Amino acid sequence: MKTSSRKEVNRTCCVCRRTADKREFLRIVRAGDMVEFDKENKKNGRGTYVCKNKKCIEGISETNALSHALRCSVNSDNIKVLVEDLLGVIAED
Ligand SMILES: [Zn+2]
Repeated sequence: MKTSSRKEVNRTCCVCRRTADKREFLRIVRAGDMVEFDKENKKNGRGTYVCKNKKCIEGISETNALSHALRCSVNSDNIKVLVEDLLGVIAED
């Protein structure tokens, strides 16, 4: 499927609701009943975004922002793995 857009589409952090260019965020996608970090930014599926900061990433496990954004219930083990993945990425910067 081909998509085109004339202007940059801003993304919204699912935790703090900040909007910015997608490069400022980490993408999270829903894959079946699981959610995972889309490191390459190219997985298909319903996705959402979170800021590249510890506060927002940890906010994922403290709120149900992710379940709400992805319209599914995400189990706590899954969230734990996801949060660890995301924190690992910002630690590399
Ligand atoms: Zn945020």
